[in-house]
Amino acid sequence: MSNFPDTIWHNGQFKPWAQATTHVMTHALHYGSSVFEGIRSYATPNGHAIFRLNEHIKRFFNSARIYDLAVNYTPDEIRAACFELLKKNDLTSGYLRPIVFRGPGSFGLGADNPTEMSIAAWVWGPYLGHASAQGVDVCISSWQRLAPNTVPAMAKAGGNYLSSTLISREAKRLGFDEGIGLTRDGLLSEGAGENLFVMLDNVIYTTTLGSSILNGITRHTAITLAKKMGYEVREQPLPREFLYFADEAFFTGTAAEITPIRSVDRKTFAHACPGPITTRIREAFFGLFNGTTEDEWGWLDHA
Ligand code: PMP
Repeated sequence: MSNFPDTIWHNGQFKPWAQATTHVMTHALHYGSSVFEGIRSYATPNGHAIFRLNEHIKRFFNSARIYDLAVNYTPDEIRAACFELLKKNDLTSGYLRPIVFRGPGSFGLGADNPTEMSIAAWVWGPYLGHASAQGVDVCISSWQRLAPNTVPAMAKAGGNYLSSTLISREAKRLGFDEGIGLTRDGLLSEGAGENLFVMLDNVIYTTTLGSSILNGITRHTAITLAKKMGYEVREQPLPREFLYFADEAFFTGTAAEITPIRSVDRKTFAHACPGPITTRIREAFFGLFNGTTEDEWGWLDHA
């Protein structure tokens, strides 16, 4: 994997890429029994900073609790490993991927095999590619999101991403950049790997934690920045057709950052893309890293 950095943290040790391996009988490979995080580090005027690292680590432990996966390292050990990994790989801005997974051992769904953990770091550009600034064209997927009381959407678990993969691959096959899933009730949920925001009449709407979404850290960031600017933000169930007459919309996510949406099902929004509210929130978000937005929340973690 030539474009990946040399060093990976695996089970407490820094290892060369080629040695960070596991067995084919790993439980997680067969049953999806892993939980992970996606975290970004940014170069800032005060040196590089990992964005909201503590919140990501907290969500990591919460996801692991849902599946009884033991994380054999403390939050402080994970923090230290993330910073050290960036250093070892000579990265300032980059993406970090901690994962804990049930390893090999006995076989069977309820097996209690010991877990393994790794952290990789690499440079990852805008997740939705060149369109991430001008706006992406998305569709409503024919695949629904995970229904409540089936596979928990609030766990960032490997197995959940089978749903996201179906949504994303269908969208790309049909010529879209990304797909949005609906809930079991047919209401808006979120993108394959992003939370969804919709603007109408100067009010900002986003779907609720009960809408089969991941509790996105960038979602929380966007809500906080928007409220600080004086916008009303409503977290509420949203019907699909809301998107067809809205003023503007955007996605949030660690990988996707703040990505404007240009069209849904080939219908464009009332405002040209990116719309004015999207632009303000996007600028405030990236301003955290270039120093034009004051980080009054302590989100930039310098170690
Ligand atoms: N929903 C899904 C399904 C995701 O995979 C992600 C990316 N982690 C998000 C939402 C956004 O979450 P965050 O802002 O914490 O990255």
